Amino acid sequence: MPAGEVAVVGGGLIGLFSAHELVERGYAVTVLEAGSGLGGGAARVNGGWVCPARSDPLPSRDVVRDGIRSLVSPGSGSFLLSARALPRVAGYLTRFLASSGGRTFSRSWDELDLLNRRTAGLVDELVAAGIIDDLQDEGFLMLHPTREEAEASRASLLSVSRRGLCPAPEPILERRALLELEPGLGDAARFGFVHRGDRWLDPSRLVDRLGESLRSRGVRIVENTPVLAVRQRGTQVELATRSGVVETGHAVIAAGAWAEQLLRPLGIRGYVTPGKGYSFTIHPEHPPTHVLRLGDTHVGVTPMGSRTRVVGMVELDGTPEGLRAGRIDVMKRKAAPYLTGVDWDASTDERVGPRPMTPDGKPLIGCAPGADRVVVATGHNMLGLSLAAPTASLVADLVEHGSAASVSAFDPMRFTRRRR
Ligand SMILES: Cc1cc2nc3c(=O)[nH]c(=O)nc-3n(C[C@H](O)[C@H](O)[C@H](O)COP(=O)(O)OP(=O)(O)OC[C@H]3O[C@@H](n4cnc5c(N)ncnc54)[C@H](O)[C@@H]3O)c2cc1C
Repeated sequence: MPAGEVAVVGGGLIGLFSAHELVERGYAVTVLEAGSGLGGGAARVNGGWVCPARSDPLPSRDVVRDGIRSLVSPGSGSFLLSARALPRVAGYLTRFLASSGGRTFSRSWDELDLLNRRTAGLVDELVAAGIIDDLQDEGFLMLHPTREEAEASRASLLSVSRRGLCPAPEPILERRALLELEPGLGDAARFGFVHRGDRWLDPSRLVDRLGESLRSRGVRIVENTPVLAVRQRGTQVELATRSGVVETGHAVIAAGAWAEQLLRPLGIRGYVTPGKGYSFTIHPEHPPTHVLRLGDTHVGVTPMGSRTRVVGMVELDGTPEGLRAGRIDVMKRKAAPYLTGVDWDASTDERVGPRPMTPDGKPLIGCAPGADRVVVATGHNMLGLSLAAPTASLVADLVEHGSAASVSAFDPMRFTRRRR
């Protein structure tokens, strides 16, 4: 006898990790996915970094500065706002600005650490279970054009290491030593250092392997089925779809950047806003063996098996879809000085995907108000892969026990004005 039935809305990273954890705990799980395949949101676009050390929340003063710069000089920054989209993202932005102040930022960071501290151990369990089979840990190579920049970046990782999330970064290297590590580096890579503790994998492979594992364990995965509404009636949950109502014991809303439309009828204003990111594949003469972080460009390069993926950009235009080729050109211009032997015009596999952004950079995890069988798990911003395993553990605790340790930090109702 299964422990109960659970429907997971969304077959992205959070939905699939949650489904896996629920199956482990004996539940009969159905995954309802709007798209024609699993991982059609941000999951397969992503950089593949499992990076607990990169756990600072997005709303910082630097990002606010970058956003303002992009309004004044469109196309310049990496956090892109367009003036036309401002009315659609105003609710998110005003709360984002309020969260970027010192005290709120530090508290959010401490709270994100509650999840991040669990990431490494839970990911290791997935490796031991054979679900993850390509986790790489050769280190991230942080590259900078000047020693001052390299020192500042190393100092910031040193402070992260004091939080216990990664070892101290290695000493700063000059160009010759960097070239010994990575012969394909361009002229801008003059100083750098290796940072360990964060790891990476191919997110598409992970989505496929999770999907296969879930199917083999009896999980029903129903594609092309957008859930239109979720509501709890007594001890049953009803999910409205185009082909009828699905009844189940519990529902998990893991609809990523699309979640807001399911949350509002449940009385939750989460301000989940799509922050579109881009990725593409390059074919360098000397493929890197480390993840490369390219100075202050906010562009990263990940070796993924025989491919090399370039990732970056946070574009807030109020829509979850729509690839703008110009954004990829900007990324190429920023990355080109750091790499040689790349034909940038021959890039392939250009993708865009919406990160589910929240104003304070923390996910929304918890039960819906007045609906203890509807669990919300979305809003993972830039960290959905890193935070998926600890989130899934909280989701399963909420389904199993109706409560979970530390979950109040991620209360989905924290931006909702409560009626007296
Ligand atoms: C360029 C880029 C690079 C990134 N790099 C990293 C990284 O290196 N490390 C990291 O940790 N994170 C990274 N991220 C962020 C990470 O990909 C996201 O945080 C993560 O995908 C969020 O997971 P999710 O399940 O909430 O959303 P998604 O993975 O987007 O999945 C949501 C799913 O729900 C489905 N859906 C939506 N609405 C409905 C509905 N009504 N009914 C049914 N299904 C629905 C969608 O089709 C989709 O499949 C990156 C993102 C981008 C775009």
